[in-house]
Amino acid sequence: MTANTPTPVTVLGTGAMGSALARAWLAAGHPVTVWNRTPARTEALAAGGAAVAGSAAEAVAAGRLVIVCLLDDSSVGEALEHASLSGRDVVNLTTGTPAQGRARAVWAEARGARFLDAGIMAVPPMIADPSSGAYVFYSGSAELFREHRDTLAVPAGATFVGTDPGFAALHDVALLSAMSGMFAGVFHAFALVRREDIAPREFAPLLQGWLTAMAGLVHRTADQLESGDYAKDVVSNAAMQAAGNATLLRTAQEQGVSPELLTPYMALMDRLVAEGRGAQDTTGMIDLLAGRPAAS
Ligand code: NDP
Repeated sequence: MTANTPTPVTVLGTGAMGSALARAWLAAGHPVTVWNRTPARTEALAAGGAAVAGSAAEAVAAGRLVIVCLLDDSSVGEALEHASLSGRDVVNLTTGTPAQGRARAVWAEARGARFLDAGIMAVPPMIADPSSGAYVFYSGSAELFREHRDTLAVPAGATFVGTDPGFAALHDVALLSAMSGMFAGVFHAFALVRREDIAPREFAPLLQGWLTAMAGLVHRTADQLESGDYAKDVVSNAAMQAAGNATLLRTAQEQGVSPELLTPYMALMDRLVAEGRGAQDTTGMIDLLAGRPAAS
């Protein structure tokens, strides 16, 4: 089966994301059945050729491949309470935790369905735009993923990260968490220059260039985590960085900027140095966070 083979797709939930997904399948020529708790939100899709089901159960009955894109995990349970999932391939694109993904897999399989959990690395305008870099993490039934891979790849790239149904959410949340840290730094940086005669639009490219240059260091961190050696070829050791933090904090004070987004990160670095690991790379902070014994 290819992306061009029309495959019936049911989409439960036509909020901002569910609608973008449904539009992508419609545009690719797949027969789409939609259901939404508030029927008015299906009208634009109906005008675009989607069939509208009167209930979630009716939508699930319309075809084998059932895409669920609701607000949260409890809405998934509520919406599908009275649907017969036997013989269905349920793909849950609702954001949740790894434990929710695993529990939802057990729940779906007990009802006779195959199950994939998913984490969407995109916002709705990126859907169905191959140049946007949008993709979705999937985990759970490898057979389901293999059989529906081409259809799943219509709205955004499809990346399978394992048969553990919790892994899609784990990858999703790990990347989102990294983004939170990145924006914490970005916001602090903009705050530092905010009161000066420095145009944010001129500062932004400098910020982007620096973050892009630094981003590659994640591979070095990964290598160290895999080797367990945090002391080899160290160029910016933890003690030096911890000392440098004093300059960052003092500059924040001079500029009248709250250091609240930076101080937890710095406190963890101080802990690493206090444990006598100042000569190593800061990779040991990951073990402190994860509550794992120190590597080297
Ligand atoms: P919206 O708020 O636009 O839509 C939420 C959807 O969930 C609506 O269809 C809503 O129905 C439905 N819903 C909420 N509660 C219930 C319930 N108890 N029973 C049945 N249906 C319910 O959110 P999005 O479409 O943007 O998000 C959907 C999922 O996609 C979320 O899990 C979100 O985290 C994820 N996502 C969204 C992204 C985004 O940028 N928008 C990015 C990545 C992931 P109703 O219309 O009746 O309220």
